[in-house]
Amino acid sequence: DIPPPLEVDPARRIFGLETEFGLHLDTGAGRPVTPEEVAGHLFHSVVQWGRSSNVFLTNASRLYIDVGAHPEYATAECDTLTDLIALDKAGERIVHDLIARGEERLRAAGVDGTIHLYKNNTDSAGNSYGCHENYLVRRRADFKAFASALLPFLVTRQIVTGAGCITRTPSGAHYSFSPRADHMWEGMSSATTRSRPMINTRDEPHANAELYRRMHVIVGDSTMAEPTTLVKMGTTDLILRLMEARVVMPELTLAREMQSIRDVAHDLPGRATVELADGRHLTAVEVQQTYIDLVRSHLGGVIAVTPEVEDILDLWQRGVDAVRTQDFSAVETELDWAIKHRLVMRYRDRLGCDLGDPRLARLELAFHDVSPDRGLYYRLQAQGLVRRIVTDAAIERAMTTAPQTTRARLRGQFVERALAVGRDFTVDWVHLKIAGSSGTTVLLKDPFRHEDARVDTLLDALTLA
Ligand code: ATP
Ligand code: MG
Ligand code: MG
Repeated sequence: DIPPPLEVDPARRIFGLETEFGLHLDTGAGRPVTPEEVAGHLFHSVVQWGRSSNVFLTNASRLYIDVGAHPEYATAECDTLTDLIALDKAGERIVHDLIARGEERLRAAGVDGTIHLYKNNTDSAGNSYGCHENYLVRRRADFKAFASALLPFLVTRQIVTGAGCITRTPSGAHYSFSPRADHMWEGMSSATTRSRPMINTRDEPHANAELYRRMHVIVGDSTMAEPTTLVKMGTTDLILRLMEARVVMPELTLAREMQSIRDVAHDLPGRATVELADGRHLTAVEVQQTYIDLVRSHLGGVIAVTPEVEDILDLWQRGVDAVRTQDFSAVETELDWAIKHRLVMRYRDRLGCDLGDPRLARLELAFHDVSPDRGLYYRLQAQGLVRRIVTDAAIERAMTTAPQTTRARLRGQFVERALAVGRDFTVDWVHLKIAGSSGTTVLLKDPFRHEDARVDTLLDALTLA
């Protein structure tokens, strides 16, 4: 009695965004505390209601402690970028809301301190953690070739989508486009921890495997500014749409992806070139311009023109132009690397120090603090210095309410009802199950399906019990 999958609509896509947060305890003298202990206290209230430190919330998103004591929040499945941005921002607030109780618990355990959560990608010890982008794509026999065709785009998109960072080297410090670039070791792989690929090719679609694959892009930086998240996910979606429509892509295969991603990251002037497999040398600006021109040439055809597509294309072009002209002013309220660059340079000039100064390292870290009061990104936002895409009301709503046009809606309803009636349950991306009872597992293989009679029956069963 499993309903047949809906017709696969090529114009629709499922998006998901996973964020690993950096966790730090600021504490004076006292006994040493491990990151695991801090994470344990931080998640105490989660464990209390969810009976686990790995839970699905009523907004259908997943919250858990990942390896290395990193709190991770994975948004529920969204089919619009505005839903995704609101849900992603909701995640920052959800983890931030755990801090007060966590600090209380730490104090009770004899540790006085302030917990910070950072939406960034590297800690002071040089560890890197991720921001994973998920794009549902139609299954095809040549998935590896399909995915590798995306690499020249992913290597060079950082000049627009990068989070920006100060890079310290023995010979001095400089400002780079992406903190994540230095931590990539290969183009594609099915392992994440050992090998650090740009695309994880593990075949785990969280959906009907006959129809779908999940493109799991793990090379991106976590981004604070809503327009940066829009352009990061939006441009990648546009390229995927062209590739899925079998548009002939320009021949841009890179000779050495790992060398190129580092060279581009460390070249704020935008003059470094990447070597292509055919021997040509192009700048990241030229590679990105080729993709912009290609998308433009398919507007009104493969790619329907919408205000959102126009917005994405406009910001994409302005980002590329900013690097080409070295005038960053047109994107300094929208793109993470440019917003942070402006902030860092202002302080450097005010302090009269060089970029390697530890005070600037603290400033950079504070930019990523998810606290609405302490976080420097949020101070800029409060001053109207960053452009918004979604409203605070939408973010607030997304903290508790699932997206209404995908499978997430069903999961959200189920979690909410089960919590309300106090029944134990287990859920993952494709299953809903009332604990302890037999025959009450519902398998949701279609991530686009947001209505399902089997789930209604399950909800009734919860209420009756
Ligand atoms: P890992 O922990 O190794 O990253 P994972 O990628 O499977 O494993 P999750 O952290 O559970 O881990 O996140 C899954 C992400 O994939 C979520 O953001 C979710 O919304 C998204 N997602 C779920 N189903 C689909 C789908 N069918 N297509 C695209 N994205 C999906
Ligand atoms: Mg994950
Ligand atoms: Mg992942």
